[in-house]
Amino acid sequence: QLQKREQLYEANEAAALLYQHCLQHSKFGAVARSYLEQRGVPAKIIEHYRLGCAPDPDQVGWSYATDQLRNQGISQDSLSKAGLSAVSNRGGYYDRFRSRIMFPIIDMTGRVAAFGGRILGDGAPKYMNSPESPVFDKGRLLFGLHQHRETIRRQRRALIVEGNFDLLLLAAHGVDCAVAPLGTALTRDHIRSLRPYSLETILLFDADAAGLKAVMRCIPYFLAEQVEARVALLPAGHDPDSFIRAEGSAAVIDLMENARPLAEFAFDRLADEHGLTLAGKNKIIAELKQLLKEATDAEQRGLMASHFSAKLGVSPEYFITEKVMAKRPAM
Ligand code: ATP
Ligand code: MN
Ligand code: MN
Ligand code: MN
Repeated sequence: QLQKREQLYEANEAAALLYQHCLQHSKFGAVARSYLEQRGVPAKIIEHYRLGCAPDPDQVGWSYATDQLRNQGISQDSLSKAGLSAVSNRGGYYDRFRSRIMFPIIDMTGRVAAFGGRILGDGAPKYMNSPESPVFDKGRLLFGLHQHRETIRRQRRALIVEGNFDLLLLAAHGVDCAVAPLGTALTRDHIRSLRPYSLETILLFDADAAGLKAVMRCIPYFLAEQVEARVALLPAGHDPDSFIRAEGSAAVIDLMENARPLAEFAFDRLADEHGLTLAGKNKIIAELKQLLKEATDAEQRGLMASHFSAKLGVSPEYFITEKVMAKRPAM
């Protein structure tokens, strides 16, 4: 089993080198490099994050990477398990990643566990990631944590962004404490994996409906894991990539410094959604009670309850759930 894992890492490492080579030396690579340049990704970022590209099958055939890697002695079984090759309905093998910019995802052992791939222009699917494998658990691995953990440790804070380009553009502008989940919602395990390095997490999600929803969805996890978190709000329509390119790093650092505590963010979102009418307040109270149930720390629960009750102009008793009662010391 251990040997199998080693073989998958070996296959991924060989693929990463091949994709890096293609970016620098192939015909498609030239197009990919100009795409990266147009998106503001400098050469030193390409190098540092080991960006590459999977070439265009019209130029090299549908099994280019598979054949190259097989010729290097990587077994078909490893290529298939690592999700680098897929089986065609004629029984042959073809490359899973084609005509894409490739982002190697490096795990905490420093090895390539998976890839993310983006097409160069519009079209679907915009992103494609490696499937889960014995070396890739997408609910645990965060893109960038390996590269950024020292900065995160030094600054005692981590930024969570949604996308690969968000992370790369922030880093290109000197903000190198971001991590990103891979085409999946943030999980409790992701949050837990930051705990050894950072005291505080700042969520810097896209300023669109999906981004706001994603923040709301992960609030219970932060409460349950007792990880301090704040939410930085970008101007509507921006993501960190577009924002830092338009406004520069000082503006991002400003947003980070002014990020709002999770509980305040949650309250404002619910107030927006339901309104502060009597009926609205009832709904808000019900939802906030659900949220409070997740908070495993009694002190934090108390602080949140008094914040919510002050905002709503109701007694904190409204937020005292059974769990809080049960945890009170006996008199
Ligand atoms: P770009 O700036 O390159 O257009 P983005 O990062 O802004 O992309 P979003 O649509 O905001 O893209 O999605 C955020 C992240 O979610 C992506 O970076 C990618 O990791 C993941 N993602 C988006 N679409 C898909 C998809 N179809 N399959 C898998 N993952 C996806
Ligand atoms: Mn988005
Ligand atoms: Mn985005
Ligand atoms: Mn974007």
